[in-house]
Amino acid sequence: MTDSALIFTDDELSELLEAPAEPTPTVDNATLLRIAGHLQTTLLPERVLDLFFHQVRRFVPLDGLAYEHGPLDLSLRVGRRTRHRINYRMMAEGRELGTLSFHRARPFLEEETVRLEHLLGALVYPLRNALLYHQAVQASRRDPLTGLWNRLAFDEALAREVELARRAHRPLSLVVLDVDHFKHINDQYGHDAGDAILRCIAATAQRCCRASDMVFRYGGEEFVLLLGNTDQMGACRLAERLRRQVARSQCLYDGVPLRATVSLGVAAWRDGEDGEHLFRRADEALYQAKAAGRNRVRGYSELALDTD
Ligand code: GH3
Ligand code: MG
Ligand code: MG
Repeated sequence: MTDSALIFTDDELSELLEAPAEPTPTVDNATLLRIAGHLQTTLLPERVLDLFFHQVRRFVPLDGLAYEHGPLDLSLRVGRRTRHRINYRMMAEGRELGTLSFHRARPFLEEETVRLEHLLGALVYPLRNALLYHQAVQASRRDPLTGLWNRLAFDEALAREVELARRAHRPLSLVVLDVDHFKHINDQYGHDAGDAILRCIAATAQRCCRASDMVFRYGGEEFVLLLGNTDQMGACRLAERLRRQVARSQCLYDGVPLRATVSLGVAAWRDGEDGEHLFRRADEALYQAKAAGRNRVRGYSELALDTD
Protein backbone atom coordinates (compact mmCIF):
# COMPACT_ATOMS: atom_id res chain seq x y z
CA MET A 1 0.00 0.00 0.00
CA THR A 2 1.36 3.44 -0.85
CA ASP A 3 1.09 6.37 1.53
CA SER A 4 -1.46 8.08 -0.65
CA ALA A 5 -3.83 5.14 -0.17
CA LEU A 6 -4.21 6.28 3.44
CA ILE A 7 -5.55 9.70 2.51
CA PHE A 8 -9.33 9.93 2.35
CA THR A 9 -11.45 12.57 0.71
CA ASP A 10 -14.08 14.23 2.92
CA ASP A 11 -16.81 12.11 1.29
CA GLU A 12 -14.91 8.88 1.83
CA LEU A 13 -14.22 9.84 5.41
CA SER A 14 -17.83 10.61 6.24
CA GLU A 15 -18.92 7.38 4.52
CA LEU A 16 -16.44 5.51 6.67
CA LEU A 17 -17.59 7.28 9.81
CA GLU A 18 -21.28 6.76 9.12
CA ALA A 19 -20.94 3.07 8.25
CA PRO A 20 -22.30 0.71 10.90
CA ALA A 21 -19.57 -0.79 13.03
CA GLU A 22 -18.87 -4.51 13.17
CA PRO A 23 -20.83 -6.39 15.85
CA THR A 24 -18.02 -6.37 18.41
CA PRO A 25 -15.94 -3.39 17.51
CA THR A 26 -12.86 -2.61 19.46
CA VAL A 27 -12.21 1.06 19.92
CA ASP A 28 -8.57 1.29 18.97
CA ASN A 29 -6.51 4.45 18.92
CA ALA A 30 -6.84 4.96 15.18
CA THR A 31 -10.63 4.88 15.51
CA LEU A 32 -10.55 7.32 18.42
CA LEU A 33 -8.34 9.68 16.45
CA ARG A 34 -10.65 9.48 13.48
CA ILE A 35 -13.67 10.28 15.66
CA ALA A 36 -11.82 13.13 17.39
CA GLY A 37 -10.97 14.56 13.96
CA HIS A 38 -14.60 14.38 12.99
CA LEU A 39 -15.69 16.17 16.18
CA GLN A 40 -13.15 18.89 15.54
CA THR A 41 -14.97 19.98 12.41
CA THR A 42 -17.09 22.26 14.63
CA LEU A 43 -16.56 24.58 17.60
CA LEU A 44 -20.15 24.59 18.83
CA PRO A 45 -20.55 22.45 21.98
CA GLU A 46 -24.06 21.31 20.95
CA ARG A 47 -22.77 20.21 17.56
CA VAL A 48 -19.75 18.39 19.06
CA LEU A 49 -22.10 16.44 21.34
CA ASP A 50 -24.47 15.65 18.52
CA LEU A 51 -21.64 14.27 16.38
CA PHE A 52 -20.26 12.35 19.35
CA PHE A 53 -23.65 10.79 20.09
CA HIS A 54 -23.92 9.48 16.53
CA GLN A 55 -20.40 8.11 16.62
CA VAL A 56 -20.86 6.40 19.98
CA ARG A 57 -24.03 4.69 18.80
CA ARG A 58 -21.99 2.80 16.25
CA PHE A 59 -20.23 1.05 19.14
CA VAL A 60 -22.74 1.07 21.99
CA PRO A 61 -26.51 1.32 21.47
CA LEU A 62 -27.76 4.50 23.18
CA ASP A 63 -31.03 6.41 23.49
CA GLY A 64 -29.59 9.77 24.36
CA LEU A 65 -27.05 11.81 26.17
CA ALA A 66 -27.22 14.79 28.46
CA TYR A 67 -24.51 17.29 29.19
CA GLU A 68 -24.22 19.87 31.97
CA HIS A 69 -21.63 22.54 32.64
CA GLY A 70 -22.77 24.60 35.62
CA PRO A 71 -20.22 27.44 35.55
CA LEU A 72 -20.80 28.01 31.82
CA ASP A 73 -24.55 27.65 32.24
CA LEU A 74 -24.68 24.95 29.56
CA SER A 75 -27.30 22.24 29.62
CA LEU A 76 -27.59 20.20 26.41
CA ARG A 77 -29.53 17.12 25.35
CA VAL A 78 -29.28 14.78 22.37
CA GLY A 79 -31.78 11.97 21.77
CA ARG A 80 -34.04 10.77 24.58
CA ARG A 81 -33.66 10.47 28.32
CA THR A 82 -34.40 6.89 29.33
CA ARG A 83 -34.24 4.83 32.49
CA HIS A 84 -30.61 3.81 32.84
CA ARG A 85 -27.75 6.20 32.76
CA ILE A 86 -24.04 6.42 33.41
CA ASN A 87 -22.50 9.74 34.37
CA TYR A 88 -18.97 10.87 33.67
CA ARG A 89 -17.41 13.98 35.11
CA MET A 90 -14.81 15.12 32.61
CA MET A 91 -11.58 16.99 33.25
CA ALA A 92 -8.66 17.90 31.00
CA GLU A 93 -5.45 19.55 32.15
CA GLY A 94 -7.06 20.54 35.43
CA ARG A 95 -9.98 22.15 33.59
CA GLU A 96 -13.54 21.18 34.43
CA LEU A 97 -15.28 19.96 31.26
CA GLY A 98 -18.72 19.27 32.71
CA THR A 99 -20.72 16.09 33.22
CA LEU A 100 -21.90 13.79 30.48
CA SER A 101 -24.54 11.11 30.96
CA PHE A 102 -25.39 8.32 28.56
CA HIS A 103 -29.04 7.20 28.61
CA ARG A 104 -30.57 3.89 27.69
CA ALA A 105 -33.78 1.96 28.41
CA ARG A 106 -31.92 -1.25 29.18
CA PRO A 107 -28.95 -1.46 31.55
CA PHE A 108 -25.42 -1.02 30.31
CA LEU A 109 -23.19 -4.10 30.27
CA GLU A 110 -19.75 -4.07 31.79
CA GLU A 111 -18.00 -4.33 28.40
CA GLU A 112 -20.13 -1.47 27.07
CA THR A 113 -19.06 0.84 29.86
CA VAL A 114 -15.43 0.02 29.06
CA ARG A 115 -16.08 0.95 25.45
CA LEU A 116 -17.85 4.17 26.46
CA GLU A 117 -14.89 5.15 28.58
CA HIS A 118 -12.57 4.62 25.62
CA LEU A 119 -14.83 6.65 23.39
CA LEU A 120 -14.81 9.55 25.84
CA GLY A 121 -11.14 9.87 24.98
CA ALA A 122 -12.20 11.11 21.53
CA LEU A 123 -14.51 13.74 23.03
CA VAL A 124 -12.26 15.43 25.57
CA TYR A 125 -10.14 17.71 23.34
CA PRO A 126 -12.79 18.67 20.79
CA LEU A 127 -15.11 19.48 23.71
CA ARG A 128 -12.42 21.48 25.52
CA ASN A 129 -11.85 23.57 22.37
CA ALA A 130 -15.58 24.08 21.88
CA LEU A 131 -15.94 25.23 25.51
CA LEU A 132 -13.10 27.71 25.13
CA TYR A 133 -14.77 29.06 22.02
CA HIS A 134 -18.13 29.21 23.79
CA GLN A 135 -16.54 31.13 26.65
CA ALA A 136 -14.97 33.62 24.25
CA VAL A 137 -18.27 34.11 22.44
CA GLN A 138 -20.07 34.65 25.76
CA ALA A 139 -17.44 37.13 26.94
CA SER A 140 -17.83 39.17 23.75
CA ARG A 141 -21.50 39.58 24.63
CA ARG A 142 -20.93 40.93 28.14
CA ASP A 143 -20.59 44.54 29.20
CA PRO A 144 -17.43 44.80 31.34
CA LEU A 145 -18.67 47.69 33.49
CA THR A 146 -21.94 46.17 34.70
CA GLY A 147 -21.58 42.48 33.84
CA LEU A 148 -24.88 42.67 31.94
CA TRP A 149 -25.41 41.43 28.39
CA ASN A 150 -24.34 44.00 25.81
CA ARG A 151 -25.81 45.46 22.64
CA LEU A 152 -24.62 42.57 20.47
CA ALA A 153 -26.30 40.06 22.78
CA PHE A 154 -29.43 42.21 22.74
CA ASP A 155 -29.68 42.25 18.94
CA GLU A 156 -29.39 38.46 18.87
CA ALA A 157 -31.80 37.88 21.76
CA LEU A 158 -34.40 40.28 20.36
CA ALA A 159 -34.54 38.49 17.00
CA ARG A 160 -34.72 35.12 18.77
CA GLU A 161 -37.45 36.18 21.23
CA VAL A 162 -39.60 37.80 18.53
CA GLU A 163 -39.43 34.57 16.52
CA LEU A 164 -40.35 32.57 19.63
CA ALA A 165 -43.29 34.86 20.43
CA ARG A 166 -44.51 34.58 16.84
CA ARG A 167 -44.32 30.79 16.73
CA ALA A 168 -45.73 30.15 20.21
CA HIS A 169 -48.31 33.00 20.06
CA ARG A 170 -46.89 34.28 23.31
CA PRO A 171 -46.63 37.87 24.51
CA LEU A 172 -43.28 39.63 24.61
CA SER A 173 -42.45 43.06 25.99
CA LEU A 174 -39.58 45.44 25.87
CA VAL A 175 -38.62 48.10 28.43
CA VAL A 176 -36.09 50.79 27.55
CA LEU A 177 -34.56 52.64 30.50
CA ASP A 178 -32.49 55.81 30.43
CA VAL A 179 -30.86 57.50 33.41
CA ASP A 180 -32.16 61.02 33.95
CA HIS A 181 -29.76 63.96 33.66
CA PHE A 182 -26.83 61.61 33.77
CA LYS A 183 -24.57 64.22 32.30
CA HIS A 184 -25.15 66.39 35.41
CA ILE A 185 -24.24 63.45 37.66
CA ASN A 186 -20.96 62.98 35.80
CA ASP A 187 -20.27 66.70 35.84
CA GLN A 188 -21.03 67.03 39.54
CA TYR A 189 -19.42 63.89 40.99
CA GLY A 190 -17.06 62.69 38.29
CA HIS A 191 -17.09 59.92 35.70
CA ASP A 192 -16.17 57.17 38.18
CA ALA A 193 -19.14 58.06 40.36
CA GLY A 194 -21.28 57.92 37.21
CA ASP A 195 -19.92 54.44 36.53
CA ALA A 196 -20.81 53.39 40.09
CA ILE A 197 -24.38 54.55 39.52
CA LEU A 198 -24.60 52.55 36.30
CA ARG A 199 -23.48 49.45 38.22
CA CYS A 200 -26.06 50.07 40.97
CA ILE A 201 -28.87 50.52 38.42
CA ALA A 202 -27.80 47.35 36.60
CA ALA A 203 -27.95 45.39 39.87
CA THR A 204 -31.34 46.86 40.76
CA ALA A 205 -32.75 45.99 37.33
CA GLN A 206 -31.58 42.39 37.70
CA ARG A 207 -33.12 42.12 41.15
CA CYS A 208 -36.48 43.37 39.85
CA CYS A 209 -36.62 40.80 37.03
CA ARG A 210 -37.47 37.12 36.90
CA ALA A 211 -34.70 34.69 36.08
CA SER A 212 -36.12 34.24 32.56
CA ASP A 213 -36.06 37.99 31.83
CA MET A 214 -32.98 39.44 30.23
CA VAL A 215 -31.33 42.73 31.13
CA PHE A 216 -28.93 44.43 28.71
CA ARG A 217 -26.78 47.52 28.76
CA TYR A 218 -27.75 48.92 25.41
CA GLY A 219 -25.10 51.63 25.51
CA GLY A 220 -23.99 54.61 27.65
CA GLU A 221 -26.64 55.13 30.34
CA GLU A 222 -29.33 53.21 28.51
CA PHE A 223 -30.57 49.74 29.46
CA VAL A 224 -33.09 47.35 27.94
CA LEU A 225 -35.22 44.64 29.54
CA LEU A 226 -36.55 41.87 27.35
CA LEU A 227 -39.52 40.20 29.03
CA GLY A 228 -40.71 36.93 27.54
CA ASN A 229 -44.29 35.83 28.12
CA THR A 230 -45.18 39.28 29.48
CA ASP A 231 -47.83 41.63 28.15
CA GLN A 232 -47.76 45.42 28.21
CA MET A 233 -49.55 45.68 31.55
CA GLY A 234 -47.15 43.24 33.23
CA ALA A 235 -44.18 45.03 31.71
CA CYS A 236 -45.44 48.45 32.87
CA ARG A 237 -45.86 47.08 36.38
CA LEU A 238 -42.32 45.78 36.43
CA ALA A 239 -41.01 49.05 34.96
CA GLU A 240 -42.81 51.05 37.66
CA ARG A 241 -41.42 48.81 40.39
CA LEU A 242 -37.93 49.30 38.99
CA ARG A 243 -38.38 53.07 38.69
CA ARG A 244 -39.40 53.31 42.35
CA GLN A 245 -36.65 51.05 43.48
CA VAL A 246 -34.00 53.17 41.74
CA ALA A 247 -35.52 56.44 42.99
CA ARG A 248 -35.46 55.37 46.62
CA SER A 249 -32.08 53.68 46.68
CA GLN A 250 -28.72 55.25 47.31
CA CYS A 251 -25.57 54.26 45.59
CA LEU A 252 -22.54 54.53 47.84
CA TYR A 253 -19.47 55.83 46.06
CA ASP A 254 -16.38 56.54 48.17
CA GLY A 255 -18.71 56.78 51.17
CA VAL A 256 -20.84 59.40 49.43
CA PRO A 257 -24.49 58.41 48.90
CA LEU A 258 -25.51 59.20 45.32
CA ARG A 259 -29.03 59.24 43.96
CA ALA A 260 -30.42 58.96 40.47
CA THR A 261 -33.75 58.59 38.75
CA VAL A 262 -34.64 56.80 35.55
CA SER A 263 -37.26 57.12 32.82
CA LEU A 264 -38.70 54.06 31.15
CA GLY A 265 -40.58 53.34 27.93
CA VAL A 266 -42.56 50.13 27.46
CA ALA A 267 -43.93 48.40 24.36
CA ALA A 268 -45.48 44.98 23.83
CA TRP A 269 -44.79 43.03 20.68
CA ARG A 270 -47.52 43.12 18.01
CA ASP A 271 -48.09 40.24 15.66
CA GLY A 272 -46.16 40.66 12.41
CA GLU A 273 -43.76 43.22 13.89
CA ASP A 274 -39.99 42.80 13.78
CA GLY A 275 -37.67 43.46 16.71
CA GLU A 276 -36.39 46.73 15.34
CA HIS A 277 -39.91 48.15 15.13
CA LEU A 278 -40.75 46.97 18.64
CA PHE A 279 -37.61 48.67 19.94
CA ARG A 280 -38.48 51.86 18.13
CA ARG A 281 -41.90 51.96 19.79
CA ALA A 282 -40.44 51.36 23.27
CA ASP A 283 -37.92 54.12 22.58
CA GLU A 284 -40.71 56.49 21.54
CA ALA A 285 -42.49 55.72 24.81
CA LEU A 286 -39.25 56.53 26.63
CA TYR A 287 -39.09 59.83 24.83
CA GLN A 288 -42.62 60.56 26.05
CA ALA A 289 -41.58 59.73 29.63
CA LYS A 290 -38.70 62.19 29.33
CA ALA A 291 -40.90 64.88 27.80
CA ALA A 292 -43.47 64.41 30.58
CA GLY A 293 -40.86 65.34 33.21
CA ARG A 294 -38.60 62.24 33.71
CA ASN A 295 -38.61 59.76 36.62
CA ARG A 296 -41.66 58.04 35.13
CA VAL A 297 -42.89 55.13 33.04
CA ARG A 298 -44.76 55.45 29.75
CA GLY A 299 -46.32 52.59 27.84
CA TYR A 300 -46.46 52.94 24.07
CA SER A 301 -49.84 54.27 23.12
CA GLU A 302 -51.10 54.13 19.55
CA LEU A 303 -53.14 57.30 19.82
CA ALA A 304 -50.35 59.47 21.11
CA LEU A 305 -47.47 58.03 19.20
CA ASP A 306 -48.19 56.01 16.10
CA THR A 307 -46.30 58.02 13.54
CA ASP A 308 -45.70 55.21 11.00
P1 GH3 B 1 -31.64 62.82 29.85
O1 GH3 B 1 -32.35 62.93 31.15
O2 GH3 B 1 -32.29 63.58 28.77
O3 GH3 B 1 -31.37 61.42 29.46
O4 GH3 B 1 -30.23 63.55 30.06
P2 GH3 B 1 -28.79 62.88 30.13
O5 GH3 B 1 -27.85 63.90 30.68
O6 GH3 B 1 -28.84 61.61 30.87
O7 GH3 B 1 -28.55 62.56 28.63
P3 GH3 B 1 -27.36 62.82 27.67
O8 GH3 B 1 -27.57 61.92 26.51
O9 GH3 B 1 -27.22 64.30 27.38
O10 GH3 B 1 -26.07 62.41 28.47
C1 GH3 B 1 -25.71 61.09 28.67
C2 GH3 B 1 -24.40 61.11 29.39
O11 GH3 B 1 -23.99 59.77 29.73
C3 GH3 B 1 -23.28 61.68 28.57
C4 GH3 B 1 -22.16 60.67 28.66
O12 GH3 B 1 -20.96 61.26 28.95
C5 GH3 B 1 -22.59 59.77 29.80
N1 GH3 B 1 -22.10 58.43 29.69
C6 GH3 B 1 -22.26 57.57 28.66
N2 GH3 B 1 -21.66 56.40 28.92
C7 GH3 B 1 -21.10 56.51 30.16
C8 GH3 B 1 -20.33 55.63 30.98
O13 GH3 B 1 -20.03 54.47 30.64
N3 GH3 B 1 -19.95 56.09 32.19
C9 GH3 B 1 -20.25 57.34 32.60
N4 GH3 B 1 -19.84 57.73 33.80
N5 GH3 B 1 -20.95 58.21 31.84
C10 GH3 B 1 -21.37 57.80 30.63
MG1 MG C 1 -29.41 58.44 26.85
MG1 MG D 1 -30.04 60.00 30.09
